[in-house]
Amino acid sequence: MSYLNKLTVRDLDVENKKVLLRCDFNVPLDNKHNITDAKRIDEALKTIEYLREKNAKIIICSHLGKPKGEYRKEFSLKPVAQYLSNKLGQEVKLSEDVVGDSAKKMISELNPSEVCMLENLRFEVGETSNDEEFSKKLASLADIYVNDAFGTCHRSHASTVGVTKFLPSAYGFLIEKEILALSKLLDNPSRPFVAILGGAKVSDKIDVISSLLEKVDVLMVGGGMSYTFTNALGYAVGDSICESDKIIFAKDMMAKAKERDVKFLLPVDLKVGKEYKKDTEFKITDADKIPEGWMGLDIGPKTIRQFKEAISQAKTVFWNGPMGVFEWDNFIEGTFEVGKAIAESGAMSVIGGGDSAAAMEKLGLAGKMTHVSTGGGASLEFLCGKSLPAIEALQDR
Ligand code: ADP
Ligand code: MG
Repeated sequence: MSYLNKLTVRDLDVENKKVLLRCDFNVPLDNKHNITDAKRIDEALKTIEYLREKNAKIIICSHLGKPKGEYRKEFSLKPVAQYLSNKLGQEVKLSEDVVGDSAKKMISELNPSEVCMLENLRFEVGETSNDEEFSKKLASLADIYVNDAFGTCHRSHASTVGVTKFLPSAYGFLIEKEILALSKLLDNPSRPFVAILGGAKVSDKIDVISSLLEKVDVLMVGGGMSYTFTNALGYAVGDSICESDKIIFAKDMMAKAKERDVKFLLPVDLKVGKEYKKDTEFKITDADKIPEGWMGLDIGPKTIRQFKEAISQAKTVFWNGPMGVFEWDNFIEGTFEVGKAIAESGAMSVIGGGDSAAAMEKLGLAGKMTHVSTGGGASLEFLCGKSLPAIEALQDR
């Protein structure tokens, strides 16, 4: 599914038209409501700039956090509107409601090439329930709908699916970029194709593991999810996170790898800690001999060497999930070394997953990857061959 059959923003005549632009501005905020990572906003600028150049009247909508259908000040999009105003060098007004009088008045005063924003979509209950009435109200604010919120494309909400029933619709440049990069992994990837999986849990990534095994030549598993696999091999895992109800699944996956001739790499050594704490005491052990009372928090030096060796031969790399608790300096090395190896491999590289993207930013490696997806769940579902309802709903060519 490449979605090249769908209209893009280039295909629509937006001159002087009111364009409802769905963005994913669900950015992290600190306790003083300052944006701590504005990547998602910056990534959407291309479509906004394009619409400005084409003299559209731009009405941006987004969700932020989970306010559960009621107005809550701490979930206001005010910090985003302020950030955008600075970036665009033009005031970006924010309405007090989502589809009420304040929004209507703001839009009626909007001139071509100006940008305004609706308050948090999730202040309305109808948003996440994909309510028809709410979708209609949202659509009535504009002439055209453009979706550029890749991170929410796997959800059927009023602002992603419902609204498309009532307006001409297309996707923006960010979604286009995501689709093109992710499609390269599905359609004829250069080989060897190496996938690296990590992160916290097997249960979050069941479908991903299974469907990657049908596509790749090498699958390496590190991070928290590796202990369920090593436990399935009979290794002691101490206090490491391990999902006992997924042991059978882990065995099945290793059998599937063997059947399909996929090289399946697990850690051979680890950096283990005494407690799940930033400054905990730590040491290196073999992966099959984690002492009782210790837990694996990063991959060890031998594993790093093995993983790097496999990555250096890759022509295509997909990576989801950090190799350890990268948030803590003592356990960041595995993630850093794997990231550097990908950057140096010259392979076409795609990073998916929110924490994985954050790790790449933190380590200064994001710019060295071919593509860092802005959509965690959406990019994984796309890779598994599932359809993305919000893209599916857009107008065909
Ligand atoms: P993504 O958001 O990229 O899909 P996940 O959410 O699956 O990634 O996993 C990220 C989290 O996994 C990080 O917060 C990291 O601290 C955690 N993690 C990685 N390795 C371990 C481990 N060995 N033990 C506990 N947590 C881990
Ligand atoms: Mg995550």
